[in-house]
Amino acid sequence: MTRPPETPDDGALDPRAEDPGAMRPWRRIPRRDSRRIHVGGLPVGGGAPVTVQSMTNTPTSDARATLDQIRRLEEAGVDMVRVSCPDTESTDALHTIVREAAVPVIADIHFHHQRAIEAAAAGAACLRINPGNIGDRRRVGEVVRAARDHGCAMRIGVNAGSLEKHLLDKYGEPCPDALVESALEHAAALEEHDFYETKISVKASDVFLSAAAYRKLAAACPYPLHLGITEAGGLMSGTVASALGIGTLLWEGIGDTLRVSLSADPVEEVRVGFEILKALDLRHKGVRVIACPSCARQGFDVVGTVAALEERLAHITTPMTVSVIGCVVNGPGEARATDLGVTGGGAGQHMVYVAGSVDHKVDDGGMIDDIVALVENRAAELAADEADGGPGTAHAGGSHQSA
Ligand code: SF4
Repeated sequence: MTRPPETPDDGALDPRAEDPGAMRPWRRIPRRDSRRIHVGGLPVGGGAPVTVQSMTNTPTSDARATLDQIRRLEEAGVDMVRVSCPDTESTDALHTIVREAAVPVIADIHFHHQRAIEAAAAGAACLRINPGNIGDRRRVGEVVRAARDHGCAMRIGVNAGSLEKHLLDKYGEPCPDALVESALEHAAALEEHDFYETKISVKASDVFLSAAAYRKLAAACPYPLHLGITEAGGLMSGTVASALGIGTLLWEGIGDTLRVSLSADPVEEVRVGFEILKALDLRHKGVRVIACPSCARQGFDVVGTVAALEERLAHITTPMTVSVIGCVVNGPGEARATDLGVTGGGAGQHMVYVAGSVDHKVDDGGMIDDIVALVENRAAELAADEADGGPGTAHAGGSHQSA
């Protein structure tokens, strides 16, 4: 593999800038040192925040329907969106989609190098394409030229379900070595044309296979990696598989961008992606509710309160932590480490904590409205701080990398 040139160090987005590990070393995740590329204006790799992607499932040729779905994904916080471009109707519609989308748009291309050239010309920020599958060196060169002319990055997307025949013949079945060899062959096809604005994925539905392939690839190349467990399943099963596969790799410091693949509303993919990042303290967006499972000691209906708060606080994008704990067994302790906390007390009277300190009591009937108002006010304060160039960071939740 040709060694890509060094990337400029525009390290302003270095997530270690406010290093929480200084205070809580057990939370520190040293991240793999990858090359930084850009997808539209978004940096990927080289210490940039881990980005969350999703993919539309509307016909791309229907620009209106696709943009409606992209809007919903944007509202959920998606960083970039991928759309399939199987035909010229899709690449025609891509002009409108790119122009009206607020986030970078990635064009997903299989086999047809002309679609890739059209997508680059339409303004796609990235092409998801496997250059080894689009024909001879000349065709690869034409796609690279289009990508370069239009400022496109590329994602090589190796999938265990569609490995090249010569690798299946060589290895007998999809295995980590086969996935990595495929990825490096595709990367080499781009390197032949001095193209290095590349990120790579090696996805499998088997968590073990995928994780092993990503580890091997991480050691074998400097490119930023796009994480995912492919065909992971429905909302519940796919979330668990993705949290294990993507989460394990991120915990090892591997991965620069991710997509959670769910057979569900794509908006759920974005939500799950951010929940994985929040759980690993890698990135924060919106309210993270820390809640006990509840038991006979609970002073209020914890489960119902959490459901109501998650729904009513879904519009908050400011990183913030809220603890909802049913009784004093764990309530005060959790509240000390969150921005806002409520702890169940006796006789329908519950204690509210602000920035870790006891603040006031609230009764059952007014509790949810009270917490929602406190969160909204605190979010407005933090947004104003940020606009003034002030601290703009939440209290003890360790939010070192806001979204
Ligand atoms: S914090 Fe209290 S209510 Fe919640 S699970 Fe523990 S003992 Fe039960």
